[in-house]
Amino acid sequence: MLTIFWFRRDLRVDDNVGFFQALEENENVLPIFIFDKNILDKLDDPQDKRVNFIYQTLLELQEKFKAHHSSLLIQHTTPLEAFQNIIQKFEVKNVYTNHDYEPYAKERDIQVKNFLNENDIAFKTYKDQAIFEKKEVLTDAGKVYTVFSPYGKKWRKQLKEEHTEHHPSEENLNKLFKTEPFTIPSLEEMGFQKIDFDFPKKETDNKLLQAYGDMRNFPAINGTSRLSVHVRFGTISIRNLVKIAQKTSDAWLNELIWRDFYMMILDNFPHVVNGGFRPAYDVIPWRNNEVEFKAWCEGKTGYPIVDAGMRELNETGFMHNRVRMITASFLTKHLLIDWRWGEAYFAKKLLDFDLSANNGGWQWASSSGCDAAPYFRVFNPTLQTKNFDKELKYVKKWVPELNSLNYPQPIVEHKFARERALKVYKEALYG
Ligand code: FAD
Repeated sequence: MLTIFWFRRDLRVDDNVGFFQALEENENVLPIFIFDKNILDKLDDPQDKRVNFIYQTLLELQEKFKAHHSSLLIQHTTPLEAFQNIIQKFEVKNVYTNHDYEPYAKERDIQVKNFLNENDIAFKTYKDQAIFEKKEVLTDAGKVYTVFSPYGKKWRKQLKEEHTEHHPSEENLNKLFKTEPFTIPSLEEMGFQKIDFDFPKKETDNKLLQAYGDMRNFPAINGTSRLSVHVRFGTISIRNLVKIAQKTSDAWLNELIWRDFYMMILDNFPHVVNGGFRPAYDVIPWRNNEVEFKAWCEGKTGYPIVDAGMRELNETGFMHNRVRMITASFLTKHLLIDWRWGEAYFAKKLLDFDLSANNGGWQWASSSGCDAAPYFRVFNPTLQTKNFDKELKYVKKWVPELNSLNYPQPIVEHKFARERALKVYKEALYG
């Protein structure tokens, strides 16, 4: 009888809670990964960087499993079909995996669980990608927090050593199911192409983290960890990062808490996927000008810091957090374009795209979110540049034609746009 461990957004062998439990409690653990057609079919770029990142990571995992005379079983289908195939080929006792808080994933897991249970196979799931999940951090009155500061305070108060405990899954690989290597579907077979891309490194830099609080807001400086793609796909353990943060930087720990916060919000308030956390904000009469949206996407708004950010995103799949806030505020306030358009564009381009953090960031910028910027806060791109890119190092890196005739005039005048945004928001919210 086999045990299955299903890898999803936890693509590592070390300190992986579900994988650890599977190996600890069973012999013959078969690791699997499903390239989910429901997700892949929606990606329109054959050179999608995320798919490449996952693929490369799976090949690395495969090498580790091969060294233990085992193999990762990779399927390209829907999750339900994958399990239908698997139980036809193998006698399966139970399936282990880690929690996922996105609405699609939760529905998928219920479907898979029901299917497995109907076939007398247990489905066991674990908390791995968050320190605190679901309703683990509650107000004294037993309510879910919707404001970050008190949530963060309580999160810190509740944190004990056990929450960052290492789960040595990597020490039990001898319990993997022994088999010849399975054939791995190629990227081409799945409709994608291999790209030559330099993904951010997985290493943490203690010196950088010690200076994080002072440096994190300057996009020209390499002052943030750039670990987001690894955190997103679980190639690094969040427990490990929290331990590092405790030794290096409280400001950085705070960002990791924001991540838990937005996951908790998505889990408890799944309506945020389709509309404002505060539904009152769903009535803003967006202008949704498609020409202006295209200029924003392409980094041609005539606002250098906005354009630099969008070009960085288009080229690298990354954008500095400060600039994510500026570009998102610009789209929703200056151009009065629905935050969901911007959210969807980021989702397409970000290497670290994560539904909870992206949705949280966009709703924060557009003021519809749980703990959002007030509607009258409109970032001034010029002031932001003065404060955070004074010497225009970041801007010039991405907008080399800045001082030439080729650079467009501002798409809209700042003062006019600000007043227009205030008027539209105020009227929509308060009549
Ligand atoms: P660091 O500053 O070194 O932070 C360490 C880690 O903490 C990050 O890797 C990330 O996992 C987490 N983190 C940091 N800030 C936040 C935050 N505000 N919310 C949640 N987690 C955070 N982050 C994503 O991971 N995926 C997204 O899709 C995403 N979309 C965003 C959209 C907007 C409009 C905004 C304003 C922010 C968004 N963020 C998103 C948050 C943040 O910008 C990135 O996590 C950060 O820039 C990644 O760079 P880093 O790894 O150097 O982060």
